[in-house]
Amino acid sequence: VLEMRGLHKSYGDLEVIKGVDITAPRGAVVSLIGSSGSGKSTLLRCCNLLEDSQQGEILFKGEPIKWVGSGLSRRPADAKQVLRIRTNLSMVFQQFNLWSHMTILQNVMEAPLTVLKRDRAEVEASARKYLDKVGIGDKCDVYPAQLSGGQQQRAAIARALCMEPEALLFDEPTSALDPELEQEVVKVIKDLAAEGRTMMIVTHDMKMAEDVSDHVVFLHQGLIEEQGTPAEVFGNTKSERLKAFLSSTK
Ligand code: ATP
Ligand code: MG
Repeated sequence: VLEMRGLHKSYGDLEVIKGVDITAPRGAVVSLIGSSGSGKSTLLRCCNLLEDSQQGEILFKGEPIKWVGSGLSRRPADAKQVLRIRTNLSMVFQQFNLWSHMTILQNVMEAPLTVLKRDRAEVEASARKYLDKVGIGDKCDVYPAQLSGGQQQRAAIARALCMEPEALLFDEPTSALDPELEQEVVKVIKDLAAEGRTMMIVTHDMKMAEDVSDHVVFLHQGLIEEQGTPAEVFGNTKSERLKAFLSSTK
Protein backbone atom coordinates (compact mmCIF):
# COMPACT_ATOMS: atom_id res chain seq x y z
CA VAL A 1 0.00 0.00 0.00
CA LEU A 2 2.79 2.37 0.97
CA GLU A 3 6.27 2.49 -0.43
CA MET A 4 9.30 4.76 -0.08
CA ARG A 5 12.23 4.49 -2.45
CA GLY A 6 15.54 6.21 -1.90
CA LEU A 7 13.99 8.88 0.27
CA HIS A 8 16.07 11.85 1.41
CA LYS A 9 14.95 14.65 3.68
CA SER A 10 16.84 17.66 5.01
CA TYR A 11 15.95 20.47 7.33
CA GLY A 12 18.04 23.23 5.75
CA ASP A 13 21.62 21.96 5.76
CA LEU A 14 20.86 19.10 8.13
CA GLU A 15 20.18 15.87 6.25
CA VAL A 16 18.09 13.66 8.54
CA ILE A 17 16.87 10.95 6.11
CA LYS A 18 19.67 9.77 3.87
CA GLY A 19 18.19 7.30 1.37
CA VAL A 20 15.58 5.02 2.87
CA ASP A 21 13.50 2.28 1.21
CA ILE A 22 10.53 0.88 3.09
CA THR A 23 7.51 -1.02 1.81
CA ALA A 24 4.37 -1.67 3.81
CA PRO A 25 2.29 -4.16 1.79
CA ARG A 26 -1.44 -4.38 2.37
CA GLY A 27 -2.21 -5.92 5.74
CA ALA A 28 1.36 -5.64 7.00
CA VAL A 29 2.52 -4.03 10.20
CA VAL A 30 5.89 -2.30 9.91
CA SER A 31 7.55 -0.95 13.05
CA LEU A 32 10.23 1.73 13.03
CA ILE A 33 12.64 1.68 15.94
CA GLY A 34 15.81 3.61 16.68
CA SER A 35 17.32 6.10 19.08
CA SER A 36 16.08 9.62 19.60
CA GLY A 37 16.91 11.80 16.61
CA SER A 38 17.39 8.88 14.20
CA GLY A 39 14.62 10.23 11.96
CA LYS A 40 11.63 8.00 12.77
CA SER A 41 9.04 10.76 13.14
CA THR A 42 10.42 12.61 10.15
CA LEU A 43 10.05 9.50 8.00
CA LEU A 44 6.45 8.99 9.07
CA ARG A 45 5.64 12.65 8.42
CA CYS A 46 7.21 12.41 4.96
CA CYS A 47 4.96 9.42 4.14
CA ASN A 48 1.91 11.44 4.99
CA LEU A 49 3.25 14.49 3.12
CA LEU A 50 3.24 16.52 6.32
CA GLU A 51 6.89 17.13 5.41
CA ASP A 52 8.39 17.58 1.97
CA SER A 53 11.27 15.29 1.03
CA GLN A 54 14.02 16.34 -1.37
CA GLN A 55 14.80 13.15 -3.24
CA GLY A 56 13.32 9.74 -3.84
CA GLU A 57 9.83 8.45 -4.44
CA ILE A 58 6.78 7.84 -2.30
CA LEU A 59 4.13 5.55 -3.74
CA PHE A 60 0.65 5.04 -2.42
CA LYS A 61 -1.16 1.97 -3.82
CA GLY A 62 1.40 1.96 -6.60
CA GLU A 63 0.69 5.57 -7.50
CA PRO A 64 3.79 7.81 -7.27
CA ILE A 65 3.51 11.23 -5.65
CA LYS A 66 3.92 13.93 -8.28
CA TRP A 67 6.45 16.62 -7.42
CA VAL A 68 7.37 20.07 -8.70
CA GLY A 69 10.71 21.75 -8.14
CA SER A 70 13.83 20.09 -6.93
CA GLY A 71 16.10 19.95 -3.91
CA LEU A 72 14.93 22.02 -0.97
CA SER A 73 12.16 23.54 -3.09
CA ARG A 74 10.63 20.20 -4.13
CA ARG A 75 7.00 19.94 -3.10
CA PRO A 76 3.92 17.93 -4.10
CA ALA A 77 2.47 19.08 -7.41
CA ASP A 78 -1.11 18.02 -6.99
CA ALA A 79 -3.15 19.24 -4.01
CA LYS A 80 -5.92 16.73 -4.76
CA GLN A 81 -3.44 13.88 -4.66
CA VAL A 82 -2.09 15.16 -1.32
CA LEU A 83 -5.57 15.31 0.17
CA ARG A 84 -6.41 11.84 -1.13
CA ILE A 85 -3.26 10.40 0.42
CA ARG A 86 -3.67 12.19 3.74
CA THR A 87 -7.23 11.06 4.14
CA ASN A 88 -6.17 7.50 3.39
CA LEU A 89 -3.25 7.44 5.82
CA SER A 90 -4.61 8.39 9.20
CA MET A 91 -2.00 9.47 11.69
CA VAL A 92 -2.12 8.97 15.47
CA PHE A 93 0.28 11.16 17.46
CA GLN A 94 2.00 10.78 20.80
CA GLN A 95 0.05 13.70 22.26
CA PHE A 96 -3.40 12.53 21.00
CA ASN A 97 -4.18 16.03 19.57
CA LEU A 98 -7.90 15.81 20.33
CA TRP A 99 -9.89 19.04 20.00
CA SER A 100 -10.52 20.12 23.59
CA HIS A 101 -13.70 22.10 22.86
CA MET A 102 -15.46 19.14 21.21
CA THR A 103 -16.95 16.06 22.81
CA ILE A 104 -15.34 12.70 22.07
CA LEU A 105 -18.11 11.87 19.58
CA GLN A 106 -17.68 15.24 17.81
CA ASN A 107 -13.92 14.69 17.68
CA VAL A 108 -14.39 11.38 15.90
CA MET A 109 -17.08 12.70 13.53
CA GLU A 110 -15.37 15.96 12.55
CA ALA A 111 -13.08 14.93 9.70
CA PRO A 112 -15.44 12.44 8.00
CA LEU A 113 -18.09 15.20 7.98
CA THR A 114 -15.98 18.16 6.92
CA VAL A 115 -13.24 16.56 4.82
CA LEU A 116 -15.06 13.58 3.32
CA LYS A 117 -18.51 15.25 3.43
CA ARG A 118 -20.17 12.00 4.41
CA ASP A 119 -23.73 11.75 5.62
CA ARG A 120 -24.11 12.79 9.29
CA ALA A 121 -26.25 9.86 10.46
CA GLU A 122 -23.92 7.38 8.81
CA VAL A 123 -20.84 9.06 10.29
CA GLU A 124 -22.39 9.08 13.75
CA ALA A 125 -23.17 5.36 13.54
CA SER A 126 -19.66 4.61 12.43
CA ALA A 127 -18.10 6.89 15.11
CA ARG A 128 -20.08 5.06 17.81
CA LYS A 129 -19.01 1.72 16.36
CA TYR A 130 -15.30 2.64 16.50
CA LEU A 131 -15.58 4.15 20.00
CA ASP A 132 -17.16 0.86 21.12
CA LYS A 133 -14.41 -1.06 19.40
CA VAL A 134 -11.67 0.77 21.35
CA GLY A 135 -13.64 0.28 24.56
CA ILE A 136 -14.90 3.81 25.27
CA GLY A 137 -18.39 3.67 23.78
CA ASP A 138 -19.72 5.14 27.03
CA LYS A 139 -17.60 8.30 26.68
CA CYS A 140 -19.24 9.82 23.61
CA ASP A 141 -20.59 12.92 25.31
CA VAL A 142 -17.67 13.92 27.50
CA TYR A 143 -14.79 16.27 26.66
CA PRO A 144 -11.18 15.07 26.25
CA ALA A 145 -10.04 16.62 29.56
CA GLN A 146 -12.45 14.29 31.37
CA LEU A 147 -10.67 11.17 30.07
CA SER A 148 -7.48 9.42 31.18
CA GLY A 149 -4.51 9.51 28.82
CA GLY A 150 -5.16 5.94 27.69
CA GLN A 151 -8.80 6.75 26.97
CA GLN A 152 -7.83 9.89 25.06
CA GLN A 153 -5.39 7.92 22.94
CA ARG A 154 -8.06 5.30 22.22
CA ALA A 155 -10.39 8.13 21.18
CA ALA A 156 -7.65 9.38 18.84
CA ILE A 157 -7.42 5.87 17.34
CA ALA A 158 -11.22 5.75 16.88
CA ARG A 159 -10.98 9.13 15.16
CA ALA A 160 -8.31 7.79 12.79
CA LEU A 161 -10.39 4.65 12.06
CA CYS A 162 -13.53 6.65 11.34
CA MET A 163 -11.82 8.04 8.22
CA GLU A 164 -11.86 4.43 6.92
CA PRO A 165 -8.20 4.81 5.90
CA GLU A 166 -6.16 2.36 3.84
CA ALA A 167 -3.42 2.49 6.46
CA LEU A 168 -2.72 3.88 9.91
CA LEU A 169 0.46 5.68 10.93
CA PHE A 170 1.33 5.77 14.62
CA ASP A 171 4.03 8.01 16.10
CA GLU A 172 4.88 6.77 19.60
CA PRO A 173 1.25 6.10 20.49
CA THR A 174 2.02 4.85 23.98
CA SER A 175 4.97 6.91 25.11
CA ALA A 176 2.97 9.70 26.77
CA LEU A 177 1.13 7.13 28.90
CA ASP A 178 1.71 5.62 32.32
CA PRO A 179 2.64 1.93 32.04
CA GLU A 180 -0.75 0.65 33.18
CA LEU A 181 -2.59 2.83 30.63
CA GLU A 182 -0.12 1.90 27.93
CA GLN A 183 -1.42 -1.67 27.90
CA GLU A 184 -4.97 -0.56 26.99
CA VAL A 185 -3.61 1.11 23.88
CA VAL A 186 -1.27 -1.78 23.02
CA LYS A 187 -4.28 -4.09 23.15
CA VAL A 188 -6.18 -1.93 20.65
CA ILE A 189 -3.17 -1.87 18.32
CA LYS A 190 -2.84 -5.67 18.61
CA ASP A 191 -6.51 -6.09 17.71
CA LEU A 192 -6.05 -3.86 14.65
CA ALA A 193 -2.97 -5.85 13.59
CA ALA A 194 -4.93 -9.10 13.96
CA GLU A 195 -7.64 -7.65 11.69
CA GLY A 196 -5.07 -7.21 8.94
CA ARG A 197 -4.89 -3.41 9.01
CA THR A 198 -1.90 -1.91 7.26
CA MET A 199 0.10 0.04 9.83
CA MET A 200 3.40 1.80 10.25
CA ILE A 201 4.28 2.25 13.90
CA VAL A 202 7.09 4.30 15.40
CA THR A 203 7.59 2.95 18.88
CA HIS A 204 9.91 2.75 21.88
CA ASP A 205 8.00 -0.31 23.06
CA MET A 206 10.11 -3.25 21.85
CA LYS A 207 7.67 -5.77 23.29
CA MET A 208 4.85 -4.31 21.21
CA ALA A 209 7.08 -4.13 18.12
CA GLU A 210 7.97 -7.78 18.59
CA ASP A 211 4.36 -8.85 19.16
CA VAL A 212 2.55 -6.95 16.39
CA SER A 213 5.01 -6.47 13.53
CA ASP A 214 5.54 -8.38 10.32
CA HIS A 215 8.64 -6.31 9.64
CA VAL A 216 10.87 -4.23 11.89
CA VAL A 217 13.14 -1.45 10.65
CA PHE A 218 15.97 -0.11 12.81
CA LEU A 219 16.96 3.42 11.79
CA HIS A 220 20.30 4.90 12.71
CA GLN A 221 21.18 8.48 11.78
CA GLY A 222 18.77 8.57 8.87
CA LEU A 223 19.68 5.20 7.35
CA ILE A 224 18.34 1.67 7.76
CA GLU A 225 20.95 -0.11 9.84
CA GLU A 226 19.10 -3.43 10.11
CA GLN A 227 15.66 -4.79 9.23
CA GLY A 228 13.78 -8.05 9.14
CA THR A 229 11.09 -10.08 10.86
CA PRO A 230 10.79 -9.63 14.63
CA ALA A 231 12.51 -13.01 15.05
CA GLU A 232 15.48 -11.83 12.97
CA VAL A 233 15.76 -8.37 14.43
CA PHE A 234 15.17 -9.24 18.08
CA GLY A 235 16.21 -12.90 18.18
CA ASN A 236 19.19 -12.92 15.85
CA THR A 237 20.46 -9.34 15.92
CA LYS A 238 23.40 -8.74 13.58
CA SER A 239 24.40 -5.10 13.85
CA GLU A 240 26.41 -4.02 16.89
CA ARG A 241 24.51 -0.73 16.91
CA LEU A 242 21.19 -2.51 17.13
CA LYS A 243 22.53 -4.78 19.88
CA ALA A 244 23.60 -1.70 21.84
CA PHE A 245 20.25 -0.01 21.21
CA LEU A 246 18.26 -3.04 22.32
CA SER A 247 20.26 -3.44 25.50
CA SER A 248 19.72 0.26 26.26
CA THR A 249 15.94 -0.24 26.08
CA LYS A 250 15.86 -3.17 28.51
P1 ATP B 1 12.51 10.72 18.87
O1 ATP B 1 12.71 9.27 19.22
O2 ATP B 1 13.19 11.61 19.87
O3 ATP B 1 11.10 11.10 18.60
P2 ATP B 1 13.01 10.67 16.00
O4 ATP B 1 13.74 9.44 15.57
O5 ATP B 1 11.55 10.71 15.79
O6 ATP B 1 13.39 10.97 17.52
P3 ATP B 1 13.07 13.03 14.37
O7 ATP B 1 12.08 13.81 15.14
O8 ATP B 1 12.62 12.46 13.07
O9 ATP B 1 13.72 11.87 15.24
O10 ATP B 1 14.32 13.96 14.13
C1 ATP B 1 15.41 13.60 13.30
C2 ATP B 1 16.39 14.76 13.25
O11 ATP B 1 15.78 15.87 12.61
C3 ATP B 1 16.84 15.29 14.60
O12 ATP B 1 18.20 15.59 14.51
C4 ATP B 1 16.02 16.53 14.82
O13 ATP B 1 16.73 17.46 15.60
C5 ATP B 1 15.83 17.04 13.41
N1 ATP B 1 14.53 17.74 13.24
C6 ATP B 1 13.30 17.23 13.45
N2 ATP B 1 12.34 18.12 13.18
C7 ATP B 1 12.97 19.25 12.78
C8 ATP B 1 12.54 20.54 12.33
N3 ATP B 1 11.24 20.83 12.23
N4 ATP B 1 13.48 21.43 12.00
C9 ATP B 1 14.80 21.13 12.07
N5 ATP B 1 15.29 19.94 12.46
C10 ATP B 1 14.39 19.00 12.82
MG1 MG C 1 9.92 11.04 17.07
